[in-house]
Amino acid sequence: MAQPEKINPNCEIEYAASWSDYGLPCGKPAVAECSDCGKAVCEECHMECCGNSYCGQCYDYHVSYACLRKPVRGERRSHERSETA
Ligand SMILES: [Zn+2]
Ligand SMILES: [Zn+2]
Ligand SMILES: [Zn+2]
Repeated sequence: MAQPEKINPNCEIEYAASWSDYGLPCGKPAVAECSDCGKAVCEECHMECCGNSYCGQCYDYHVSYACLRKPVRGERRSHERSETA
């Protein structure tokens, strides 16, 4: 007279909610943070410009709209520092 235990068929699936925080869609460890949107970027997605780190998206935007670095070649130094303490 033992009643068979029924296993609840409705398994509770837990979605990992932490990878959106610091894990990356490409599954690589973050090496830097985008200085624009603050998103973590891996070594491959990591872009650098003007001394800042960017994700691919923000880098694209940066070079198109906000980049201060102009393609100037042969910059001349007219001011030379020669400080002697
Ligand atoms: Zn970004
Ligand atoms: Zn990546
Ligand atoms: Zn730039």
